[in-house]
Amino acid sequence: MKVLQQYRIPFTGLKPGKHHFDFDVDDRFFDAYEHSIVKKGRLKVAVILEKQETLIIAWTHIEGTVALTCDVCLNEFEAATAIDERLIFKYTADEELADASEEIVVLTKNVVEIDMAEPIYEYINLAVPFYKRCTEQGNSACDASMLKFIDTLSSQDQQENKQEMDPRWDALKRIYKQ
Ligand SMILES: [Zn+2]
Repeated sequence: MKVLQQYRIPFTGLKPGKHHFDFDVDDRFFDAYEHSIVKKGRLKVAVILEKQETLIIAWTHIEGTVALTCDVCLNEFEAATAIDERLIFKYTADEELADASEEIVVLTKNVVEIDMAEPIYEYINLAVPFYKRCTEQGNSACDASMLKFIDTLSSQDQQENKQEMDPRWDALKRIYKQ
């Protein structure tokens, strides 16, 4: 995806020490990931790459807002997001690949760029709360008219279930009585 190319950092020419990179994340970023939970958002990403002799540490700070859908009232709301993560890239020969873990990304000889798109995508999606409520993460009240509507729907459902269940129970009772 072309839009993701801007999140690559060529590191081979960097001097040892710390280097600062800034990125913007918007809806086009999330469009590039089909399975992204977050579809919309506006965030600033600051990456500090610390280049050492055998490894590179990427300190990532992400701040901004993502659009979430409230689990209670189905309203879309803006949730403030702040993330701090660290990732280690390690130079290594091919035969040492077995050492790679979730926290350590292995850099083989022919890799010349660090791709931050995937880590940024994962950080943002993992930060999405399991239970999303506009009253909690969005600081706004739930949509009252929607709540009323959902309430009406669920009580209608219950009534319909009752009506559907009754004839079946009646039929079963008749069978047992025979
Ligand atoms: Zn809500």
